[in-house]
Amino acid sequence: MSKPSIYGLTVDQLAAWLAEHGHKKSRAQLVWEGLYRKRVTAFSEMPELKPECRTLLEEHFAIQTLEEHTRQESADGTIKFLFRLQDGNLIETVLMRHKFGLSVCVTTQVGCNIGCSFCASGLLSKSRDLTSGEIVEQVMKVQLFLDGRQNNERVSHIVVMGIGEPFDNFEHMSNFIRVIRDPKGLAIGPRHITVSTSGLVPKIREFADSDLGTNLAISLHAPNNDIRTRIMKINRAYPIEPLMEAIDYYLEKTNRRITLEYILLKDVNDQPEHAQELAELVGSRRNLANVNLIPYNPVDEHSQYQRSSKETITAFYDTLKKNNISVSVRLEHGTDIDAACGQLRSKQIQSDRARGAKANRAANE
Ligand code: SAH
Ligand code: SF4
Repeated sequence: MSKPSIYGLTVDQLAAWLAEHGHKKSRAQLVWEGLYRKRVTAFSEMPELKPECRTLLEEHFAIQTLEEHTRQESADGTIKFLFRLQDGNLIETVLMRHKFGLSVCVTTQVGCNIGCSFCASGLLSKSRDLTSGEIVEQVMKVQLFLDGRQNNERVSHIVVMGIGEPFDNFEHMSNFIRVIRDPKGLAIGPRHITVSTSGLVPKIREFADSDLGTNLAISLHAPNNDIRTRIMKINRAYPIEPLMEAIDYYLEKTNRRITLEYILLKDVNDQPEHAQELAELVGSRRNLANVNLIPYNPVDEHSQYQRSSKETITAFYDTLKKNNISVSVRLEHGTDIDAACGQLRSKQIQSDRARGAKANRAANE
């Protein structure tokens, strides 16, 4: 049996675990210091711990559970990492460079069951949730990679927008946030963390009631139920009306701004009348909502959707502006490597499958 990653525990959980196993709670701080400040990758590199304590930790936990499979670096500095989990599954993590700092996009599930029709991740259904340790370790792997380059660079922002639906893995996602925001650990402030959801209404409410305090983004993608149901089947379970009510609950409870993501699909949801309808939907929430327009990244050459033209994107943007809606267009990163989140992984799986099929054919000949 493989050991769980120690990165999955908050310092309090680690202290409680140590106490249960007959060790002083205060040792958790030493372990924490080793993991997140010195960033050691083996318990043997924590000489400040008593040998019995080190052995105990070694018996029950691993520090490194992800193995780098592939890394692609783009001309704009974006780096996509493909990691192999202990069970052999592949996941993707992306490092992006911005004016304001370095952000990491993390994966929360192996595949995704929400099945949005424009998304590479949704084409591969979920095989399992990631543990909080596996999510934290993605950030640590990227930080360790940066440490190795010796430029003194630090991951400053996190977007939970990789493969998977974070609110369908709520407990692990929450623990992940508690670990990385700890000021004595990675110290990534909740205002620097954005979680994106396809709109699981009860979980949006639970998130609003929680102490997590991160930014929230909602994948809205359509101005009405007809279009939303066509492109996101989750809209059957949680249509726009209850979704907007949950958003209002979040806004009222937290008094924070929210991002509404809107992927532009040619002739599907990108026409001036759609922009007008979206402006009306955002309506009274305009002071607390920012619409983020996302140019569609074709999933593969057989995609049923096409990217909207620059002119269409500009016209859509202008209509929202004219209606006093706060709007931005998402800058793209790493378009010369494998564009959308999930694409590197799905390509690798496709090529592994093709290789497997070829090997099978050869064996049968
Ligand atoms: N499951 C969550 C978070 C992961 S997806 C969610 O859906 O919000 C992160 C973002 O990438 C979402 O807004 C999603 O709609 C968008 N996305 C998915 N496929 C895309 C594609 N092919 N091109 C551009 N954006 C895409
Ligand atoms: Fe899942 Fe998000 Fe992709 Fe939809 S867009 S299939 S919810 S990862």
